[in-house]
Amino acid sequence: MIRHSAKKSLGQNFLVDDNVVRKILHHFSPRTDEFVVEIGPGQGALTKYLADMGVETLAVELDSELVADLQQEFDESSSVQVREQDILNVNIAAIAAGTPKPVRVLGNIPYNITSPLLFHLVEYRQDIHDAFIMMQKDVADRIAAEPGNKSYGILSVLIQTYAKVEYEFTVSRNVFRPRPNVASGVVSLRWYEKWSQHIPDFDLYRVVVRTAFGKRRKTLRNALDYLPFSQFDVDSLEFDTSQRAEELSIREFIKLTREIAEAYPKYENELVDSEL
Ligand code: SAM
Repeated sequence: MIRHSAKKSLGQNFLVDDNVVRKILHHFSPRTDEFVVEIGPGQGALTKYLADMGVETLAVELDSELVADLQQEFDESSSVQVREQDILNVNIAAIAAGTPKPVRVLGNIPYNITSPLLFHLVEYRQDIHDAFIMMQKDVADRIAAEPGNKSYGILSVLIQTYAKVEYEFTVSRNVFRPRPNVASGVVSLRWYEKWSQHIPDFDLYRVVVRTAFGKRRKTLRNALDYLPFSQFDVDSLEFDTSQRAEELSIREFIKLTREIAEAYPKYENELVDSEL
């Protein structure tokens, strides 16, 4: 494959260590009765192993130069199909509808799109069996963090509302070219619906979580004063508001949201104007 210079704007840090590539694939362990969507194949470090294993793969890459090289390397005889598209515009439901195999997502992703990408996957969770994603280590720490941990925050709650997140392993920055400034972390996500079905209104839930963490050193009693509702009285809640956001589990955030929805039914009108 021709070596083009890496484009920083597309988060291009290519894996150059075969041991790490093998470790990722060993943990992901794809099978031929599964369908893999690879996010950002780049120069094909992970892709070539998927092809060697004969795993049916759709590799989605935004950089047209890389797409041209990849399409040459993975021709019709390969199990890998390369598509030039922004992953954030990919309709994963359509992919799932086109195969009888469970769809799994794999990617050493461009770090600048980590949050929108995670929420894109959440949106299509019904169509995805699981996801195995390498990202900036501090973000991996955040999405996998449990209550009480200093990394536990908005992203942890909003992602763990939909998925069981496992922190798999850390990857040194030395195995990439160009070398990024920070280490990476690999996480796996397995979707569940056990919490989301109890959320009365997702917009309200997001606002409650964001507001609670907006003043993370304050108790909920003080932090929730910043909810964008004109006549909301925190003291009318039965919820124990002497706790801080960082101590609350997903279940408790949902309970709090339900109480607020019940105690303050006018919230819907005021949420429309909220920027949270
Ligand atoms: N998977 C390769 C590896 O491990 O060496 C490349 C990883 S590199 C961190 C991220 C890749 O995602 C780059 O090839 C980049 O061009 C591509 N990319 C960036 N933004 C993208 C987007 N929105 N959709 C699809 N691919 C994207």
